[in-house]
Amino acid sequence: MAPVPVDVEVLVVGGGIAGAGLALLLARRGIQVVLADHGRLHRSGPHETLLGSARPLLERLDLGSRFDALAVRDPLRHGAVWGSDELVWRQDAAPGWLLARGAFDAGLRTMAAAAGAVVCERTVVHEHDGGFWLRGPDGQRWLRPRTVVMATGRTGRRERRELGPRTFAFTLVGEVDAADRGTAVVEAVADGWIWTHALAQGPGSAAVMLDAAACHQHGRSVLLARALRSAHGPAGRMSSVRLATATDATAGWLAPCPDRLRLGDAAASIDPLASQGVEKALAAADHAAAAIATALLQPSWWPQLCAQHAQWERELAMAHGAVAADWYGRESRFAGAPFWRARQPVPAPPLDPQQPLQAAGELGPAMVLVRQGDRFVAQDGIEHRGTGDRLAQIGFVPVAPLLRTFAVPRSLAAGVAAAGSEARLFVLPPRAVWQAAQRLLRMGWLVPAR
Ligand SMILES: Cc1cc2nc3c(=O)[nH]c(=O)nc-3n(C[C@H](O)[C@H](O)[C@H](O)COP(=O)(O)OP(=O)(O)OC[C@H]3O[C@@H](n4cnc5c(N)ncnc54)[C@H](O)[C@@H]3O)c2cc1C
Repeated sequence: MAPVPVDVEVLVVGGGIAGAGLALLLARRGIQVVLADHGRLHRSGPHETLLGSARPLLERLDLGSRFDALAVRDPLRHGAVWGSDELVWRQDAAPGWLLARGAFDAGLRTMAAAAGAVVCERTVVHEHDGGFWLRGPDGQRWLRPRTVVMATGRTGRRERRELGPRTFAFTLVGEVDAADRGTAVVEAVADGWIWTHALAQGPGSAAVMLDAAACHQHGRSVLLARALRSAHGPAGRMSSVRLATATDATAGWLAPCPDRLRLGDAAASIDPLASQGVEKALAAADHAAAAIATALLQPSWWPQLCAQHAQWERELAMAHGAVAADWYGRESRFAGAPFWRARQPVPAPPLDPQQPLQAAGELGPAMVLVRQGDRFVAQDGIEHRGTGDRLAQIGFVPVAPLLRTFAVPRSLAAGVAAAGSEARLFVLPPRAVWQAAQRLLRMGWLVPAR
C-alpha cells in the first residue's frame, strides 16, 4: 500500500534555542508539534552569555528555574576596555547565565519532549510530494503539517540582506593569566573587538570579531595575531592560543516566506556586540507561538502572520543594530582604522522644523494583526505597499489617524498639533504622539512634501 502522510499541526525544522523554545511553548499549550534537528549546531565558543536582564522574559515564559537548572549562573566579573585603554568593571549588572550550547539546546529539546512535543534528533528534513520527509536514526516519517516553521539558524546567506559590514567571528582557546581568572572582558582593538572569558579553572576563550573584507585582504592569521598583541586586557596575556571555531557573524535579515514562518536567526540575526541573540531567539519563539495558535484558528491569516513575524524580527534586529552602532560610536581611539570607520553610526540628517511633510504615497489602509496576550487580533492599520510592512499602532498611538493629519503637507510640529483634533489622538499625551510621528519619519512613512 502506498504510504500516506501523517497530518500534524506544526513542524519546526531546527532545534536550537528558537526552535526548541517554540516547540516547548506550543506543546505546553496542547498544540501538536514535531521538532526536527539535524544536530549540526552553529559554531561559537565554549559557552554563550545570557545577560541577567533576560530574567523577566524567562519568568514570563515560566523558564527561569529551568534555565537555572540547565545553565551555569555566570560567576564572572564583567568589564570593558572600550573608548580608553583603561579596564572599567561593570558595577550594576545582574548575574546572567553561561550556556554550553549543544548540551543546553539538547536540554531544551528534552523539556519540549517532556511537555508533549515529538522531538526527532539527528534528523534531516526533505520537502517532497506535497509533504515533508523526516529521516533520522529511528527511521523515516512523512508529514503533512498545517504550519511549518524554519528555525535553522544563520542559513541562506545569499538571500540575506546585511544590516552592517560583514563580520567574521573567530573563537580562540588558550591559557589565561592567573590574574585574569574569573573575568569576562570586552575590548576594542584597532582591527575589531575581542570578548574573553576566563573561568576559575580550565582554558580561557577569546571571541575575536574582525572585518570580513580585511580578513580577505590581509589573511585572518595576521589579523588575529595583531589583534591579540594589541590588547591591553586578558586577551593580550593569553598563551598557547589555538583557533577553535570560525563563523560569519554579520547581522542581517531575510524576506518572509508566504507559506512558512522563519524564526530566530533564520529570520534575522543581530550584531554579536549586543550579546542578546539567545534572548532574541526566546522572545521570537514566544511571538511565533502566539502567531501559530492564531493561525490554527484562522488559517487564512497564516501568510500575513508569517510576514508580520518577519517584520517583528527585522525591526528587533534593527533596534539592536542602533544600540550596537552607538557602542561603536563610543570608540574614538581607532577612528582611522577600516573596522571602525565602517561601523561608525551615520547621524540622521537634521530635520528642518519648518519642512512640510506628508504621508508617503505607497501607504494605504490595511488589516493589521496585533498581538493581544497569546493570540493576534485584527485591527485597522496601514500597509506600506513598497515593503509590505503593516502597522496599527506605535506604542499606544494609532498610526492611521496620525497619518491622516499629514494628508496635507505640514511641518512635524503642525501635524502633531493638528492631530489633537482627532478623537483617538486627543486623549493621548502629546509627547507620545510627537515620538510616534518622529518614528514614522525615520521609517520613511512621512516624507518631505513635494
Ligand atoms: C560566534 C558567536 C557567538 C555568539 N555569542 C552569543 C552570546 O554570548 N550570547 C548570545 O545571546 N548570543 C550569542 N550569539 C548569537 C546566538 O548564538 C544566536 O542568536 C542564537 O543561537 C540563535 O538561535 P537559533 O535557534 O535561531 O539558531 P541556532 O542556534 O543556530 O540553531 C539552529 C538549529 O537548527 C538546526 N538546523 C539547521 N539547519 C537544519 C536543517 N536543515 N534541518 C534540521 N535542523 C537544522 C541546527 O542543528 C541548530 O540546532 C553568538 C553567535 C555567534 C555566531
